[in-house]
Amino acid sequence: MKTIFEKTNGNDGINFTDKELNLDFLPDEAVRNGEIGLPQLSELDVMRHYKELSDKNFCIEKGFYPLGSCTMKYNPKINELLASLEGFNIHPSVDDDMAQGSLELMYKLQQALLKITGMDAITLQPSAGAHGEMTGMMIIKKYFDTIGEKRTKVIIPDSAHGTNPASAKMSGFDIIEIKSNEKGQVDIEALKSVLTPDVAAIMMTNPNTLGIFEEQVEEISKIMHDNGSLLYYDGANFNAIMGYTNPKLMGFDVVHLNLHKTFATPHGGGGPGAGPVAVVEKLKDYLPVPVIEFDGEKYKRNYNIRHSIGSVKDFYGNFSVLVKAYTYILMMGKNLKKASEHAVLNANYLKEKLKKYYDLPYDEPCMHEFVITGEKQKHENGVSTLNIAKAIMDGNAHPPTVYFPLIVHEAIMIEPTESENKEVLDDFVQLMIKIANECSANPEAVLCAPHTTPVKKIDEVTAARHPDLKYTD
Ligand SMILES: *Cc1c(COP(=O)(O)O)cnc(C)c1O
Repeated sequence: MKTIFEKTNGNDGINFTDKELNLDFLPDEAVRNGEIGLPQLSELDVMRHYKELSDKNFCIEKGFYPLGSCTMKYNPKINELLASLEGFNIHPSVDDDMAQGSLELMYKLQQALLKITGMDAITLQPSAGAHGEMTGMMIIKKYFDTIGEKRTKVIIPDSAHGTNPASAKMSGFDIIEIKSNEKGQVDIEALKSVLTPDVAAIMMTNPNTLGIFEEQVEEISKIMHDNGSLLYYDGANFNAIMGYTNPKLMGFDVVHLNLHKTFATPHGGGGPGAGPVAVVEKLKDYLPVPVIEFDGEKYKRNYNIRHSIGSVKDFYGNFSVLVKAYTYILMMGKNLKKASEHAVLNANYLKEKLKKYYDLPYDEPCMHEFVITGEKQKHENGVSTLNIAKAIMDGNAHPPTVYFPLIVHEAIMIEPTESENKEVLDDFVQLMIKIANECSANPEAVLCAPHTTPVKKIDEVTAARHPDLKYTD
């Protein structure tokens, strides 16, 4: 495909004369006198160019997107419609009096998320999951500093998302990694063996990144609290438990959510996200400012929080994401619980269908996602998980997450979400069976996949080691 510069054909979409632009007020040295070198195309040419580009892109509107740990569910279009309402398009510096509608929405979203998490207080400010983790860990740090306890360590299971140790480290803690047991869950003995009085917290994901529910979570909570430590819940993937249980019941003190996963706001491609952080009562005074409050008459921003860690983002965070998440929650109502039901059902259905063709390292009932491995294909046919992922692209599906979690070799992590129906799941099963068969019958075909995408197999090593990001003819 040609770049927009190569397509330049001299048809101006728009052509202002100097007179129309009325630049007389500018000093001579500020006025450009040469060509700027922008593409010259008509509006229709430009539309076609970008449509062609977007057609080459894969997205949830185009096909199945079973990206484990990322919850790529359908983002209903009404979310976009409501987020673009003119009334929400106000300057964040206006007085509370003039922003009552926006503040009310944020307050009500806070209330909904508190209900869903079971927690006592919340901030909507962090702009991503990792940002929420860091906010939560800063709260934990400030809490122990304030009550005068020197606690410098954070325990993290080896199945954790890589952002967990990064967030804890950036908040000033040392990390202790503990191994999972044969069921893919936290090993209680391993936990006890590293538990010392200077441990501030454990960071857990439940269901964990293997998609397995940590059955001993209550015991873990008791062990940690008996030690005076806190429990952090990575709630990026809340899709398995909404309405069934919550982190408060499991004994956690801090939790972050990814609105841009569970609550149906778009993600991928680096757009805006939101990672609200909810806490138990005793950590309430440490939340970032402003906190949105309601005094029975008016909604207001409270900047006066006693031990606040300060602001972690300008103004309120990514407001449009909050509107979309609130819309989704209102639209779903009590069906939020059903979303979890279907997400878990879909994942178990795929797991049972696929385990005959790919090895399943932890054969446990799964929650919203599960992990298979391409080890058999690698050893028997010389086809790696990366090759399998590329072959999936030929079947109009996005590849699942691969090589994560790190504790499973050749991991393929599949999360169908609740959005998909049985026909889509069955098509995916057929595709995965076809690839498994091809791995043994004709491995060469899988090794040079993808065959149908706009860009074929790329040299990833050179792309990573010697990136060439400049376009030349
Ligand atoms: C996605 C994810 C994160 C990080 O969220 P970002 O918004 O990408 O920063 C953290 N933990 C888990 C388990 C996740 O799946």
